[in-house]
Amino acid sequence: MSDLAFTRTDATRKPQSERDAILADPGFGNHFTDHMVSIAWTKDGGWHDAEVVPYGPIPMDPASSVLHYGQEIFEGLKAYRHADGSIVAFRPEENARRLNESARRLALPELPVELFVRAVHELVEVDADWVPSGADQSLYLRPFMIADESFLGVRAAHRARFMIIASPAGAYFTGGVKPVSIWLSSELARAGHGGTGAAKCGGNYASSLLPTNIAAANGCAQVLFTDSATEDTIDELGGMNLFLVRADGTLITPALNGNILDGITRKSLIRLAGDRGHAVEERAVTVSEWRDGVADGSIVEAFACGTAAVITPIARLKGEAGTIVDFGEAAPGALTMSLREELTGIQFGVREDPHGWLDVI
Ligand code: PMP
Repeated sequence: MSDLAFTRTDATRKPQSERDAILADPGFGNHFTDHMVSIAWTKDGGWHDAEVVPYGPIPMDPASSVLHYGQEIFEGLKAYRHADGSIVAFRPEENARRLNESARRLALPELPVELFVRAVHELVEVDADWVPSGADQSLYLRPFMIADESFLGVRAAHRARFMIIASPAGAYFTGGVKPVSIWLSSELARAGHGGTGAAKCGGNYASSLLPTNIAAANGCAQVLFTDSATEDTIDELGGMNLFLVRADGTLITPALNGNILDGITRKSLIRLAGDRGHAVEERAVTVSEWRDGVADGSIVEAFACGTAAVITPIARLKGEAGTIVDFGEAAPGALTMSLREELTGIQFGVREDPHGWLDVI
């Protein structure tokens, strides 16, 4: 248990009229709340100077390790406003746990789970006015950790900083959930065995940008990465995990093989599907199995999942050689949509929370 106390420096808050205008149509990642959290770490002194301060630029020495060697990790989670005005965060301790897994891989310091959750509370409490109340809106929280030692030697930094910023997020799908096309990246990979694929570090996302551009140029919303060794075994999308649904109701999703992110939405859906009596197979899945399964009618739905969009139905998979899978009018599938409705119902407080996933702020 960390007894670090947070000090608070109040920001000049944005006027309510300006905030209301932003909350009416926040989009994603465009606007930031009035405050941010900052906690410093040194190798000798551990975590110290926990602060809630006005949102703004951070002083950064040009020799900071993060700018040269990318020693950085981050998280993403949401806070939701319920109809009674209360605010909840969804499974923040899972993000804390995953941050620490990323920290170990990137040789950054681990942050006590309880301190992470307390930091989330501190920020959401002070910026509670920024948690929107419109349909499907939320406050997206972005915890991150950077190595900020000024030293050009290539070694794990002796100084780091953990921060949380927050950004109001609008409905991901306006005008109804739309199935998307995704692009199979055959040449470019985001992760390899023994690499950082399972960590949420900036470098993984930097390496996904070029294939994502290629996906976009081919009319696809996201890129699907396969195991770089087999080119057929599915890993995940650039920012989401993947599920296939069999005609008998079985869900199939790539196992946590060290190359993919241990998604909290993935984990939650596995639990909810299991509660309903669906079999869930976490194992190696291939593009060939997906293609052949759709052709013979044994695979009937596919969806991607992650914090940002919760569940995104997949309409088709395309690649260099053309369309590989096309669900046509069958997308979005019924199970995809009902799992989406169940999980968002829990998050927004219109359904019971049977597993105690909501953390009341
Ligand atoms: N995979 C990747 C590469 C991601 O960036 C994300 C988003 N964090 C996910 C999967 C889904 O994870 P979560 O459900 O925890 O948002």
